[in-house]
Amino acid sequence: MARPVRFNIHPKEADYNTAIGFAESPAGFTGEGFFTTKLSDVVGLARKNSIWPLPFATSCCGIEFMATMGSHYDLARFGAERVGFSPRQCDLLMVMGTIAKKMAPVVKQVYLQMAEPRWVIAVGACACSGGIFDSYSVLQGIDQVVPVDVYVPGCPPRPEGIIDGFMQIQTLVGKESIRRRNGDQYKALLESYGIQ
Ligand code: SF4
Repeated sequence: MARPVRFNIHPKEADYNTAIGFAESPAGFTGEGFFTTKLSDVVGLARKNSIWPLPFATSCCGIEFMATMGSHYDLARFGAERVGFSPRQCDLLMVMGTIAKKMAPVVKQVYLQMAEPRWVIAVGACACSGGIFDSYSVLQGIDQVVPVDVYVPGCPPRPEGIIDGFMQIQTLVGKESIRRRNGDQYKALLESYGIQ
């Protein structure tokens, strides 16, 4: 049965002009022929609308991600159509599925290979907390090995939930100071995970 979605409703022909919009410009001062704003706001605007996700899908939640990337939900509308499988070219790690303890070092290795700035979404109950698998072999949440920025609950979360998590990441990315990654707080966070 088709799921109701408020996205991708085909506009009538007369609506095409209003269906295409521009990203909201950051706060600043406008004059005749010039516009001034903060550098970090411009960097944030560019970053949040050109995120390159790295899907780390191990089980059922990965199927929901496939639906999220399909034409019906179409994550590309958020500037994230370039899904990559090379950590060095991606800035958003999306972990979807059950992560066995044997797999945990691999998740960490992938995270370490990503360049800064990098963000992480835990998609689904298994990635967030181990889900229903409270067992000796399953990692009880990927935040035991890498820092997580956004948690998307659900078993599995629907594509709308994944899109909502992605939009939360966009909000974080857009507001992040370009100096945050050099700050003591961020360094302390990485050190708590044994990352230099
Ligand atoms: S959260 Fe549920 S749907 Fe997602 S990987 Fe775990 S068991 Fe599968």
